[in-house]
Amino acid sequence: MGSEREKIKEMEVMVAEVIQEAHDTATIVLFTGNDKLNYEPGNFLTIDPHQFPALERWVRFLEDQKGKKEPARAYSLTSSPDEKHLAITVKEERYISGVTPFPPLLSPILACRTFPGQRMVITGFTGPYTFTEKLRNQSEEVLHICAGSGIVPSYSIIKYDLRNFSKHKHTLIYSNKKFEDIIFYKQLNELEEQFPGRFKVIHTLTREEDESLFSEKIRKGRVSKELITEFLNDPEHTAVFACGPDHTVYQKKMAKEKGITLNPSFMGSVLSFLDELGVPKNMIKKESYG
Ligand SMILES: Cc1cc2nc3c(=O)[nH]c(=O)nc-3n(C[C@H](O)[C@H](O)[C@H](O)COP(=O)(O)OP(=O)(O)OC[C@H]3O[C@@H](n4cnc5c(N)ncnc54)[C@H](O)[C@@H]3O)c2cc1C
Repeated sequence: MGSEREKIKEMEVMVAEVIQEAHDTATIVLFTGNDKLNYEPGNFLTIDPHQFPALERWVRFLEDQKGKKEPARAYSLTSSPDEKHLAITVKEERYISGVTPFPPLLSPILACRTFPGQRMVITGFTGPYTFTEKLRNQSEEVLHICAGSGIVPSYSIIKYDLRNFSKHKHTLIYSNKKFEDIIFYKQLNELEEQFPGRFKVIHTLTREEDESLFSEKIRKGRVSKELITEFLNDPEHTAVFACGPDHTVYQKKMAKEKGITLNPSFMGSVLSFLDELGVPKNMIKKESYG
């Protein structure tokens, strides 16, 4: 793998295919021409919203409202380096009256309005959420704890590791609100069938109302300390990847101004459970999407 500087570059790509993964989530497969793709599973790329003519007035309006330039958004790679094409998977963020201060800018057009043949500029690749050589050597097993679109970098890491190495067993605890929100449901089941004994997935749903869906494999509720304990066999020798929402800087700022305490976030509670269960910090890789 090259140095970070060599790896990060701007590239013009063309959308080859758009795959609907869930009602609000799409995988965008990208043609990169002859550009050499130098990335690791778990890395992300960034997309600058200023490049889309359809967003021009939104960008200007939001920049006026927020008093600062809209930054590029990060998207983890769904693809892994042993695959021919580059792909990202984007979940559409929602505007919730009285909760979110501004309408989300980029994810709605990426998830719902992207079409084959469209060109865009991406900048990649970087990110610390990777299964490093050191972590490989220090661990016997891998536990992934993900929520929502937080599955994306772990999905890349899991499939790459299963296909190209043989040492590690991976367990994925994957949290979503409802069954219909699960991303890569079919692909994860297929990986489990293809790699019996090396990959196991447990879903947990926080707001699903159809009781008939629940089983050993599809649990009810949030990721709890008990659920993690069930699948954490050896806290000191398990590499843990945690990816999902955390409180945003805006939420923290608002809570401080109003003098209220925020409920624990997905990331906050997972990290405190791991600490209580004795997982050393150097065995944990985390990425917050908030
Ligand atoms: C390393 C990394 C990897 C990621 N990978 C993925 C991925 O694989 N898939 C995926 O779907 N997403 C991923 N994300 C999230 C992604 O980068 C975007 O944050 C997401 O798509 C939302 O972008 P948006 O432009 O639609 O929304 P934004 O315009 O960024 O808005 C999001 C929320 O923030 C609020 N907000 C924005 N600006 C302000 C402000 N100034 N003050 C107060 N509130 C504000 C909005 O009201 C809204 O609720 C990743 C994030 C990171 C950091």
